[in-house]
Amino acid sequence: MDKTHDKVNLLDFDRAGLEAFFAEIGEKPFRATQILKWIYQFGVDDFDEMTNLSKALREKLKEIAEVRLPEIVTEQYSADGTSKWLLRLDSGNSVETVFIPEDDRGTLCVSSQIGCALECSFCSTAQQGFNRNLTTGEIIGQLWVANRAMENRPRDNRKISNVVMMGMGEPLLNFDNVVRAMNIMMDDNAYGLSKRRVTLSTAGVVPALMRLKQVSDVSLAVSLHAPNDELRNELVPLNRKYPIKELLEACREYASGEGRRHITFEYVMLDGINDSPEHARQLVKLLKGIPAKMNLIPFNPFPQSSYQCSDRPTIDRFRDVLMKAGIVTVTRKTRGEDIDAACGQLAGKVKDKTKRTQRKILMAGGSV
Ligand code: SAH
Repeated sequence: MDKTHDKVNLLDFDRAGLEAFFAEIGEKPFRATQILKWIYQFGVDDFDEMTNLSKALREKLKEIAEVRLPEIVTEQYSADGTSKWLLRLDSGNSVETVFIPEDDRGTLCVSSQIGCALECSFCSTAQQGFNRNLTTGEIIGQLWVANRAMENRPRDNRKISNVVMMGMGEPLLNFDNVVRAMNIMMDDNAYGLSKRRVTLSTAGVVPALMRLKQVSDVSLAVSLHAPNDELRNELVPLNRKYPIKELLEACREYASGEGRRHITFEYVMLDGINDSPEHARQLVKLLKGIPAKMNLIPFNPFPQSSYQCSDRPTIDRFRDVLMKAGIVTVTRKTRGEDIDAACGQLAGKVKDKTKRTQRKILMAGGSV
């Protein structure tokens, strides 16, 4: 049985939500700024420590609200500096969050759902099935907890400079909570990350992508993985609902307009499946006219996976075709393999799988 919470979790609110919350209890909007600073900049989760709030307000907050954070179950460190946390959310469910340090940045890879309903054939999260969406607090809580954990490790006191919504789940199928959490990431009084440093990665939920453009201008990564519908239907079954042509039209639309930037296309390199020079040439044709960068991801195996990773010369040949056509292409370094923290290896623990039903709803055109 899940614990029921009768108190409001302040992590569930972005600035607008906090202002509405304080208005409701008869407080001024600037309280939102104070709370954001305490929670996210100073890492404080105890109202008693929030000394610029009056004693009366602190007492009131203690009665009706809390700062409810995910709990760390395990913490693992890779030889290459990558860290992975398994976080418990409610009874039986947990998700994984990964920190990837590089010379010029520190990237946190954040999960958006418990499990995933999309069933991409090369992804280990798909094997877990789907349980539920994460709340806003559970998404932003991953940053809070990772920040705190790293502060306590003086040996490598690293900072989160970038966030990628590339952990477990499909962020656009948890639209409102993900947008709110990204608002907090970008809020100057919270984490203050620029829109260039917050990236949402999607398998291509087209209507939600169009909606995203209306409410946010975060950077976009699209998991393409195949240059034609026949192959993409197999690898990313969501393609049967939103085929490549529709997806790329939505991408073109997302990239258009003032201050918009390129879109990163992710492409997992699967030996003998999608990695020939002919596939690369098809991709070049497909991406004509779209401000695109390509990210080639060496396939990371997991138990029961039936694919192999393309070998290095094949990946390099593939990259060369794209580069010669003028598409900036980067082969992603595989990090954290020794702790199963690489792309597509995040598992967590998912209870009460409803994968079949979820998938049926999705494919039958259920609302997203
Ligand atoms: N649902 C979102 C975000 C999660 S997956 C999406 O599809 O984009 C993050 C990235 O890891 C995606 O590009 C995904 O296709 C890739 N990925 C999944 N499994 C992988 C694996 N086994 N090896 C390499 N990359 C993988």
